[in-house]
Amino acid sequence: MGEFELIRRYFFPIAEVGNTSAVLLGPGDDCAIQRVEPGTDLVFSVDTLVEGVHFPQRYDPEKLGWRSLAVAASDLAAMGADPVCFTLALTLPDADPGWLHAYARGLAKAARHFGLSLAGGDTTRGPLTLSLQVHGTVPRDQAIRRSGAKAGDHICVSGTLGDAGAALNYLDNATPGSDEQAALTRYHYPEPRLDLGARLRGCASAAVDISDGLVADLGHILQASGVGACVDVSKLPVSAALTRLAGQTAVNLALNAGDDYELCITISPKAWEGLPGDIRRQLTVIGEVTSGNDLAITHNGQPRALVAGGYDHFRTDS
Ligand code: ADP
Ligand code: MG
Repeated sequence: MGEFELIRRYFFPIAEVGNTSAVLLGPGDDCAIQRVEPGTDLVFSVDTLVEGVHFPQRYDPEKLGWRSLAVAASDLAAMGADPVCFTLALTLPDADPGWLHAYARGLAKAARHFGLSLAGGDTTRGPLTLSLQVHGTVPRDQAIRRSGAKAGDHICVSGTLGDAGAALNYLDNATPGSDEQAALTRYHYPEPRLDLGARLRGCASAAVDISDGLVADLGHILQASGVGACVDVSKLPVSAALTRLAGQTAVNLALNAGDDYELCITISPKAWEGLPGDIRRQLTVIGEVTSGNDLAITHNGQPRALVAGGYDHFRTDS
């Protein structure tokens, strides 16, 4: 079977899994066609993953299938967009049917789970590289941007932080215990917060997904909004498994490690009070937006230093 026949066989069925009514034409023609209803904004983003840079060499193709779409979809979650479809540009060193089958299986599982149908793509030969462009929609002008944070807003994060970062230590562990396994699952199978993001439209003042670590990604909101922030590390949501695995360094991972794909949002206290309980329960308030332009870290209200490479557990600013 030729390379293109493999693509047709394994990938074209992924056109059927998502929000297909908006995709008038999927893979097979020169372009795909997406219908965008009046009063709707199209929100789109592309993400590239290079072997050895964004994922380890010889990484399990089934996990890569899930992960490659999840990290792209996370950008839609951060904008509050409803997922619609995606395209896949695949660069492969060779057409290995076993690899393609496993990659397509992981991709199909993610596509179904996130409601994203495959609309088309491109296939070329070269070092293993994946580019996925995701498309979503929002009601006109309702996308959540990074630039809307205001002094006095709460800063919140979803889920727990640091787990995926801890997993980097266990990727080669052949017999992980249950805590290691929990962390590894967070790394291999990120869950973009699409439903949460969409429900925060019109409520959150700014949002970003945490791909590079809380400090770095919250920093993007602060810069785009021209504000500062104060975050209390005693409030950071850290899983019990991570606390057992990392002890005192769990806080460092929660502040600085990437790959969790949780959301970090800002929201006015009034909008926060108005949020339905089921949404509030998915979020933890970790601090407040300030009128300055830097990120201050406290621990139970006491100033703490944020040093290069992470948070210093023992040093105070004074
Ligand atoms: P063109 O030369 O017009 O760009 P291609 O021969 O590259 O078309 O692709 C033919 C069709 O197959 C297109 O509709 C394209 O979207 C689809 N396609 C190619 N590669 C992939 C892929 N990796 N995943 C999904 N669809 C693909
Ligand atoms: Mg082409």
